[in-house]
Amino acid sequence: MAEWDYRVFWEEALKQLREEFKEAGNEQEFVLWFGADYLGSAEREIAVGVPSAFYRDQLNSRGYTSRLKSKLAELSGQNLRIRFEIRKKNASPAAANETPVSSESRAALFGKSAHPAGHSGEAAPPKNRHPQLREDYTFETFVTGDNCSFAYNAALAISRNPGKAYNPVLFYGGVGLGKTHLTQAVGNALFQAGVGKIIYVPAENFANDFINSLQAKKAQEFKNKYRNADALLLDDVHFLQKKMATQEELFYAFNALSQAFKQMVFTCDRPISELKGMNERLTSRFSSGLSVDLLPPDYETRKAILQKKLEIAHKDIPPDVLDLIAQNVSTNVRDLEAAMAKIVAYAELTETAVTPETAQQQLRDIFCSPKGGAVSVEAIQKAVADHYNISFSDIKGKSHRKKIAEPRHVALYIASKLTEYSTTELGAEFGNRDHTTVMYSVAKIEKLITVDSVLDAAVQALMREIKDREK
Ligand code: ADP
Ligand code: MG
Repeated sequence: MAEWDYRVFWEEALKQLREEFKEAGNEQEFVLWFGADYLGSAEREIAVGVPSAFYRDQLNSRGYTSRLKSKLAELSGQNLRIRFEIRKKNASPAAANETPVSSESRAALFGKSAHPAGHSGEAAPPKNRHPQLREDYTFETFVTGDNCSFAYNAALAISRNPGKAYNPVLFYGGVGLGKTHLTQAVGNALFQAGVGKIIYVPAENFANDFINSLQAKKAQEFKNKYRNADALLLDDVHFLQKKMATQEELFYAFNALSQAFKQMVFTCDRPISELKGMNERLTSRFSSGLSVDLLPPDYETRKAILQKKLEIAHKDIPPDVLDLIAQNVSTNVRDLEAAMAKIVAYAELTETAVTPETAQQQLRDIFCSPKGGAVSVEAIQKAVADHYNISFSDIKGKSHRKKIAEPRHVALYIASKLTEYSTTELGAEFGNRDHTTVMYSVAKIEKLITVDSVLDAAVQALMREIKDREK
């Protein structure tokens, strides 16, 4: 027996985790992600074999590695490191030993490290990079479609002409639509262009930083840090709602930076006007520059995003499977990535070619979750009826009076955007209307919102509200 042998802990940890997943109804998840083979032990370390760098990185980013570690700690009473070795399932142990993988090496998927396939375990040469920014969040890796090309162009413009083109710029939109990616792309571009002090900070950290500085009696340091930045990228400002003292600090930082023509970028999960508990002076500052929204990508863009992500990761999935994912995951890019990651992992683990049928089976949770587009038509009808102060039965009824017909068009429009129902199915849900009537309603609102900004804002607000309610 080796001097260090943690095999029993490893096996027990897996057994217990399997039970935990099973109880939570996620046994399949366990089977997919806990297939690493025990290879051996060293002092306070367990070596396990995984099929690819991609798989290992998924284990890390999905929190499975930390879950394994805490289970191992619980069982063994020690903090054991897990060292991943990349090995094909049937590879000889000798081959496995030749390709040790540092657990620190960066994600192959979605990562910048464009290693040639098969060398994904090697550490990338050290590069000059900004400590707060993800290297892979660049303009090159951002795919544009109608949903985000305005935001993309604005981001590009300010990185070419910081502090002058538009200042500040605010990107807003729902989760997983690329706000952070685009903001960091600006940061990376400015960094490459040699702009001095670029601060990227999630609003939550900004708030914590502020409170810590007060406690440590270092408020002045905090002020200096932000007020002397050459560019400030503040992510998720909705987090500052009701945090009045922090907002006040941001207000002063904003003024200092604005006067010095330093570029600022903010992101928010909704339009600034919909934030609550905000200092008005600050919100008016936010709105003083350019505000651009990011929308969910359409089918074509979703396909292009998937293709790009696969290319970056040096992975491949069959075109019909890719199409299936693009068709079914319409919520946001993060969900798209998750679906793709699952399919790639499945193919690697089972060493089989994925078919649309297996993909459908593997992704049914994602396809069926409310996040996957299954907002109910009824919820939409109710929300719209409430908003326009008409009755639920009117929405489905026959009246052609404008007061009733317009909300009905709006509800149909929203239902066409937020659900996967066909126009025929929607017609059935709206008092047995013909599918051409549905198409007419949708087209009508589509056209109206391009000219009527009040209606547009109302429709967008309703859509957000409906999605929030369904969560
Ligand atoms: P948000 O900040 O809006 O919640 P993120 O910027 O974190 O969203 O994006 C979620 C994920 O989706 C990231 O991995 C990001 O790289 C990816 N992503 C979002 N939009 C795009 C896009 N247009 N092209 C490529 N990747 C995208
Ligand atoms: Mg974000």
